[in-house]
Amino acid sequence: MKAITIHQHGGPDELIFEEVPDPIPGPGEVLLRVHATSLNHVDIDVRNGVAGIEFLQSLPHIMGVDAAGEVEAVGFGVTRWNIGDRAMPHFMLSCGRCGNCRAAKANICTDSRILGLTAWGGYAEKVLVGENHLVALPDAVSYEDAAAGVTPFATAWEAMIDTAKLQAGETIMVTGAGGGVGSHAVQVAALAGATVIAAVGAEDKAKRVTKMGADHVINYKSEGLDTGINRITNGEGVDAIIDGIRGSILQDCLKCLKDGGRIAVIGAHGGEHVDIDMIELFRKHISILGCGRSTTEIYGKVLSLMATGKLKPIIHERFPLADATKAHRLIESRHFFGRIVLLP
Ligand SMILES: [Zn+2]
Repeated sequence: MKAITIHQHGGPDELIFEEVPDPIPGPGEVLLRVHATSLNHVDIDVRNGVAGIEFLQSLPHIMGVDAAGEVEAVGFGVTRWNIGDRAMPHFMLSCGRCGNCRAAKANICTDSRILGLTAWGGYAEKVLVGENHLVALPDAVSYEDAAAGVTPFATAWEAMIDTAKLQAGETIMVTGAGGGVGSHAVQVAALAGATVIAAVGAEDKAKRVTKMGADHVINYKSEGLDTGINRITNGEGVDAIIDGIRGSILQDCLKCLKDGGRIAVIGAHGGEHVDIDMIELFRKHISILGCGRSTTEIYGKVLSLMATGKLKPIIHERFPLADATKAHRLIESRHFFGRIVLLP
């Protein structure tokens, strides 16, 4: 099969389009022919060999957290899938045996592999996963939309709905609302009946998040988060925040919350260590919640909402798989809105 591999860590030029042997499905495994795969910010970290990914499998490696396609071959004992079935893997290749998996918490599996990090991922014509890692695609959802939309919608769902317990009528701020997860989180929060305040770092992104369902927009580079939240909420603050930036943004977030407010933290691209005023934290009864890994059940839920048009994935641009280098340059430029899709 053709694949994008890395033989050493480094910049976009380390991505090599080449022929590699087809994976062969063992017992309980399914070989999926990939029709679309989406860039994830973590791919950049994997390519660079940074951000705490010591557990990365040995080189050469195939990246790609998201993929969607059709079943091409099944291993011995596979009962749930037939050749030609449309499906996508969940990126958490959970073990199915540990206590968390048995308690329906596969997103905190203690013995999980991760697609594209510790197992070969979706930057290829074919990808190998266990049969229980696959989720069926509804006919109404295209491969491109599945690869682009499901992971960010599911990440946002797990963070805001399941973890931060966002309720209709509450107000939520989405930081990084122009990014891959943020742009999709705005839609999930609006669907949940919340008032959505989208924080973006560029004026062109402000117009686009309004179209996604944001009720208010803050440009945090020109206004500052807490100034913007005070203006919009008349000094009251918000009930909840979903943040994938962290760094100094997290400190500003604490000032933006009402008493009893919740912050769902799904990433740390803006800095891994943050000084927090613990007095403000306990006096205001603020909860900081680590989250952002979804489950196959949440994938199924967002796929059915995508099939009925209630959630609409945002694709910025599509590239042939062979042009992965160009796609990586684009994601690193930050001049995009939504997701970037590779087509094997
Ligand atoms: Zn497990």
